[in-house]
Parts: sequence; C-alpha cells; structure tokens
Amino acid sequence: MRRPVVVANWKMHKSVQDAERFLRRLLELAPQRPQVELVVCPSATALQAVGRVLAGTKIAWGAQSARPEPEGAFTGEVSLTQVIEHGVTHMICGHSERRALFGEDNRLIARKVEATLSAGLVPILCVGETLDQRRHGEAWSMVEEQLVVALHGVELEDPSRLVLAYEPVWAIGTGVAAQPDDAQDMAARLRRWLGERFGAGGGEVRIQYGGSVKPENARAFLGLADVDGALVGGASLDPDSFWKIAQGAVAGRQP
Ligand code: PEP
Repeated sequence: MRRPVVVANWKMHKSVQDAERFLRRLLELAPQRPQVELVVCPSATALQAVGRVLAGTKIAWGAQSARPEPEGAFTGEVSLTQVIEHGVTHMICGHSERRALFGEDNRLIARKVEATLSAGLVPILCVGETLDQRRHGEAWSMVEEQLVVALHGVELEDPSRLVLAYEPVWAIGTGVAAQPDDAQDMAARLRRWLGERFGAGGGEVRIQYGGSVKPENARAFLGLADVDGALVGGASLDPDSFWKIAQGAVAGRQP
C-alpha cells in the first residue's frame, strides 16, 4: 500500500519566526501518527529552526534545492552537504521554477537526483509540461524526456526512496488546477513507465500531483487511483490549509 505523501513547498516565503509559528500550529493539528507522510520544505535560512522544532516528531523536512557538489565556488548557493547538516530527509529536484528561472536543465537535475539518492535522502522529482506543449499534444513526450534524463543510471532498490511529482507548469501558482482526469491519465502513464524502467518496485513509487492544490480540490486529486499525494505551494503557507489538504489524502482513499 502506497502511503500518501503531502509536501509543503514554501518557496521564498517565511521568516524563521513565521516558520516556527506555522509548525507549532501544524503540530497541534496533526496526530502523533498521521496516516499521511508530511514533509515541509522551507527556505534554506529556516532549515535549522525547522529541524529544531520537528526533531522527534512524525513530520519530516526537506530542502527546496541544493547543489550536488559538496563545496565550491557557487556564490549564493547551498550544497546538499550543507542542508544535510540540518537533518533534511528530502529534496525537491527539477521544480519548474528552478528550470525556468535558474536555467536548470535535465542533466543538472539528474546530478541532483543522483547526489540526493547517494546521500540516502529522498528526491522529490518534479516533471511537467508547459501549456503550449500540452496544446500541441507533446505533454507526454516532454515528461518522458525529463524522466529519461533525470533518472538515467539510477538503480532503485526501494521504491520509497523516490517520489515523483507531476506538476503541469501552467497549473503552478496560477489558481488553475489540471482536470483530475488529466492528472490521473498522466499519473497512470508515469506509473507504467516506472514499472518498465525499474521493474515491479517501480510501480510502487509514489506519484504526487502539484499545481494549485487547495483544501477545496485536494480530495478530487488525492482520491485518484494513481495519485499518492500532493506537492503544494501557495496553499501550504497556512498550517490549517495545509492540514486540510493532508486530510483530503486520507478521505480520498476511503471507499
Ligand atoms: C509548487 O510550487 O510546486 C506548486 C504546485 O505551487 P502551487 O500549489 O502554488 O500551484
């Protein structure tokens, strides 16, 4: 049984104080053993504080991005080694904002995925097409190319070590989510691809949907047969809203 995983991507939001306030509230809401795996990805500047609050709880924390090199002349960047110091267990790789705004290509993303796995962390690999690509019937070929390069050379012994996030670029931060049927269609193709690439275990990799997920639509996505969670941006900034989305994952699984 694939345990749903709901991830908060705070992007460039929240001071240390805001992050601590959010987590105190989330810990009030979330039971000791939530049925859903929860991961919070703050800015690098808040990682230490987030780690302090979440240590010993059932909520995990991750990095939004980090360079695969352990150290070096990369002004303004942080390395995977540096974020690991703060106890992260996950890293978002290939987010469309990193691809579009910071020029990250599939090869760099592949290096990040490889470094993340080698360090024993879970990459949350984001893939997704632009609106133009969808309109031209190229959604799957684009996503497949992202997968082929990003996962080149990866050997996956344990499917729980990888999370895939299907995030159509046009749905991120726009308030316009994909149609649940389209999300399911893509998730099913992704699952087939993973099964062919990694064998039976590949089919067990958890696949999230991301793109304007809110408490009001969470259940529609999280109840889909091949969708095992959500990567949430805007609606993850408020703890009550984030928790309602996580509850949508539980409700969506009930018959
Ligand atoms: C994201 O940042 O990955 C995302 C899906 O953002 P939003 O939920 O705001 O669309």
